[in-house]
Amino acid sequence: MTNAYEKAERLRQLPPYLFVEIDKAKRKLLAEGQDVIDLGVGDPDLPTPPHIVAALKQAVDDPANHRYSFTEGIKELREAIARWYDRRFGVALDPNTEVLPLLGSKEGLAHFPLAVCNPGDAALVPQPAYPPYRSGALFAGAEVVPLPLLEENGFFPDLGAVSQKAARRAKVMFLNYPNNPTAAVAQTQQLQEALDFAKEFGCAVAYDNTYSEVAYEGYKPVSFLQLPEAKSLGVEFHSLSKTYNMTGWRIGWACGNAVLIAALNQLKSNVDSGIFQPVQYAGIAALEGDQAPLEQALRTYQQRRDLFVEGLTKAGWQVAAPKASLYIWTRVPTKEPSIAFATRVLQQARVVIAPGVGFGPSGEGYVRLSLTVPTERIQEAINRLSKSL
Ligand SMILES: *Cc1c(COP(=O)(O)O)cnc(C)c1O
Repeated sequence: MTNAYEKAERLRQLPPYLFVEIDKAKRKLLAEGQDVIDLGVGDPDLPTPPHIVAALKQAVDDPANHRYSFTEGIKELREAIARWYDRRFGVALDPNTEVLPLLGSKEGLAHFPLAVCNPGDAALVPQPAYPPYRSGALFAGAEVVPLPLLEENGFFPDLGAVSQKAARRAKVMFLNYPNNPTAAVAQTQQLQEALDFAKEFGCAVAYDNTYSEVAYEGYKPVSFLQLPEAKSLGVEFHSLSKTYNMTGWRIGWACGNAVLIAALNQLKSNVDSGIFQPVQYAGIAALEGDQAPLEQALRTYQQRRDLFVEGLTKAGWQVAAPKASLYIWTRVPTKEPSIAFATRVLQQARVVIAPGVGFGPSGEGYVRLSLTVPTERIQEAINRLSKSL
């Protein structure tokens, strides 16, 4: 039977999903009953802290919370976010005009270009990167101008290398620090250069700060909005997913420039009807409640990180301990392309790792390992990797 419909062009512009073969091979091994260790995904394995779950349970019993919420979320959540921003970064936000809850930061990041770009505008997108920046820009009809993140530049874009033509057409620049997948962190000076560039060319900055709370040894990542005047064209995206082990709950927010926030709100009001209210109350409990589970989670990730660095170094890899994020980003220890290496590791060691090229061509030569599995499994993964290489 022939299919009557062809999917839209815009979907066909998306890059091929490079993990397809690895996913298939992984599913086959699992179906055979093999013991596969998955270091490929960045989804915290620790449970959501109990006081957050309790807040949801309590709110879910109130019928007032069963109805449509508002796209812009309940006022109490926006106020809690503004208070958290002030405590954490010393940045003042107006909860009514400068804060917008999201169904996860992914949702807001992917929708943002639709709210700010016209067809033919340019979107500056780091590469390698979290994929929704690029997809969102393509859906909006923008031309994606890659900003290669190179190790010699500390995985920060060389904005001087962006052509004048592209810079003048740029409507949005995505930045993400602490970075996924490279685990790099940003210096204030680098962010200032990005802000100066954006001001010169009048482009918005969409700063993905999803990992702002996932940092080690006392390091505190900064907010883009801490820079003077960043609010003139900056919007920062946050998530409760990685901070409070809430990936399945779908809650995050955007905050910053009021015009950009209003544009995203207008777009979203045509697409969704806000976050389930009990999840919003749980979000307030996360931001305002006991932070001890977060500190405990950070100690756990740090132990795992140290175990990885020690074990892989012994096995002959060159691994640096990341200051932040849930990832180890390291060079492929052999001469193989990253996909060939990851495929072989899966077959020989039954360990899933993410090939760097899957995050964009500049990721070639690297692999990403995730800190979201228990130490025993990391030890087992290291043993297997050491044997099979
Ligand atoms: C996980 C992740 C997100 C998505 O977070 P959600 O709030 O769960 O949608 C956004 N950005 C980066 C870089 C991530 O790694």
